[in-house]
Amino acid sequence: MVVGCGAYMDSGYGCPGEWRCLKAAATGEGSFGEAAQVVGFVKCECPGRSLVPNAGMTMKLSEMKPDAIHLSSCMVKAKPGCPYATPEQFAEILTGKFGLPVVLGTHEYH
Ligand code: SF4
Repeated sequence: MVVGCGAYMDSGYGCPGEWRCLKAAATGEGSFGEAAQVVGFVKCECPGRSLVPNAGMTMKLSEMKPDAIHLSSCMVKAKPGCPYATPEQFAEILTGKFGLPVVLGTHEYH
């Protein structure tokens, strides 16, 4: 599963939902290490409180539990960063809730 920063995605330029995360997963580039199937793409929304319920609902409705959750590169590396939580804090919350490993980042494309 990939989680994108909604504030960044909604900026409409270089949106992480276009192709970057998906290409990295399909080819195994970037933070994926090996080719992977994206079974969910969840958009975080400020101030981030909806992330856990939306990720949980995605798993429930799709009836698929991912092997890992990737916080997209825009969520982890974009500057200025998220004013509400660090990537590490988001990762801790998601791991605590779902018991899944959380990887910081998805791709290294520009
Ligand atoms: S809470 Fe942070 S990571 Fe989530 S959409 Fe807002 S700025 Fe992006």
